[in-house]
Amino acid sequence: MIKFNRYPGGKPHALTMSYDDGRNFDRQLVDIFNRYGLKGSFHLNSGFFDTQNYVTADEVADLYRGHEISCHTLTHPFLEKIPVAEVVNQILADKENLEELAGYPVRGMSYPFGTYNEEVINALRVCGMEYSRTTLATMNWNMPDDFMRWHPSCHHKACLELLDKFEATLKNRPHAAVGAMLYVWGHSYEFNNDQNWDLMEEFASRIGGREDFWYATNIEIVDYQNALKALRFSRKCDLVTNPSAISVWIEVDGTPVEVKPGETKKL
Ligand SMILES: [Zn+2]
Repeated sequence: MIKFNRYPGGKPHALTMSYDDGRNFDRQLVDIFNRYGLKGSFHLNSGFFDTQNYVTADEVADLYRGHEISCHTLTHPFLEKIPVAEVVNQILADKENLEELAGYPVRGMSYPFGTYNEEVINALRVCGMEYSRTTLATMNWNMPDDFMRWHPSCHHKACLELLDKFEATLKNRPHAAVGAMLYVWGHSYEFNNDQNWDLMEEFASRIGGREDFWYATNIEIVDYQNALKALRFSRKCDLVTNPSAISVWIEVDGTPVEVKPGETKKL
């Protein structure tokens, strides 16, 4: 039996972090992520760079190196309450500003205020967005059906609760934890407002640096899933071709198997 439940290196679990707005407290948060080896996506409003309490355009490339620089619109409007032409402008202007700083195509985003509708999603796709995160917590670790409606596992306020639930599953029903993708979101300034940086320190120290976890940015999760979906199988599923540019791992009768880029493999 072949299963799509493995991550790079054959690892059984993934963790991705997602932080909005690009406020100056991102510096402290990135420092925590870097110390524990966590990877995050930072959804930035480039229209606010260099204003009070926001990061500066000058520091963006260095600060977020190793993480993902991602869109959050130019100036943070409710996207479903403005003309679609302005939606397009809000995304493309942000994307262009960020790409000039990041040096790579910026392909994802999170919804300002977590709100959207069908028309907004259509506009975002046309603008080259490949995923967009909502604020609806699932408290589970399933891969989303639709990356344009990517509901996170939880806000960071519930991250220890999520981790406790995951650890309990790992202990009691380990098969239900294979393929798990934990997704935590928030705003870095909330740690300052709530004076609870220790919450993220505790979460990161418990979940960071583990052999069973792949620490990924949001777009790395999307790219990996797309590569999995692109695998081509023979009628008997005893041959597989990986036409994409990255290695993928699948489970074959319970064992993780790597299929290299461009490889056709006998299973
Ligand atoms: Zn926001």
